[in-house]
Amino acid sequence: MTLFGIVEICIASPVLFSNVFAMRVVQTVSAMQRQARVWQTLHVPVAFVPTMGSLHEGHLSLVARARQEIGREGRVAVSIYVNPAQFGPHEDLAAYPRNFSRDKKLCAQAGVDVLFAPSDREMYPAGFSTYVAEERLSQGMEGAARPTHFRGVTTVLAKLFHIVQPSVAVFGAKDFQQAAVVQKMVQDLNFPLKIVVSPIVREPGGLALSSRNKYLTPSQHRQAAILRRALERAREAVVGASVPAASLREELRALIASQPESRLDYIEFFDPQTLAPVHQAKRGTQIALAVFIGKTRLIDNAPL
Ligand code: AMP
Repeated sequence: MTLFGIVEICIASPVLFSNVFAMRVVQTVSAMQRQARVWQTLHVPVAFVPTMGSLHEGHLSLVARARQEIGREGRVAVSIYVNPAQFGPHEDLAAYPRNFSRDKKLCAQAGVDVLFAPSDREMYPAGFSTYVAEERLSQGMEGAARPTHFRGVTTVLAKLFHIVQPSVAVFGAKDFQQAAVVQKMVQDLNFPLKIVVSPIVREPGGLALSSRNKYLTPSQHRQAAILRRALERAREAVVGASVPAASLREELRALIASQPESRLDYIEFFDPQTLAPVHQAKRGTQIALAVFIGKTRLIDNAPL
């Protein structure tokens, strides 16, 4: 902890010295804004990792990346907020896994400086009526399957970016379209912010880590490996070749249907920059898919 850091905490925290060496947990927008103003006054740069909690190694890899981006003299802020605005009316908002005390420990161990965990009342006070919507990259895939999802994502992130005032924000490649939509919002609305996209962390069996994996029974967990197998099969199919996306999609659909509890939501082949669908899949094409295993909806993606 530098002298700057000590001064900064003393100014920002109402309890002087009590948390000089500890991670600070902030639960109100006004306290977080106060902290951000102190960082700005002291020219301390901030790297930010927004999450919905129920943290796993995927999230922690983003925290490590945030630290790498911002250095020892910078600050790493993580938010934990299960954002109701990005859940559809029939989605798993109420059931979404929450374990704040475990998350808090994991963040402290990972070297997070500030954990911002606001309540719904803080983020969406009564009468809230302003939303941010990206209208191009958000239309297909997750946006088509979950019509209000990205409006909720961009709205909450615009708010969080304003509140935390980071110079870097780190997102996972696991949510490939989300990262592209956020990058576009940041560009279109002139947020002075660099978006960093960090690689997908997977289980040894290949399943991408996700807070929603907790919903899977042991048998469903085994069946969920089909997502990764489908991505690998697509990769093999384009080695030295360009193949019609429609026929590759049908092949992968049959592969996924081999699992008794699986139900394909979508498979898309697209340009990784524009997210525009392609007719021919080849090296450099991005594939993304969403598959229900039982009632649990899982997503994954890869470059071919
Ligand atoms: P969530 O808590 O699901 O909203 O995710 C918060 C951030 O963690 C998002 O940027 C996700 O893309 C990222 N993330 C989730 N799972 C993984 C994973 N397996 N590997 C890398 N990043 C991930």
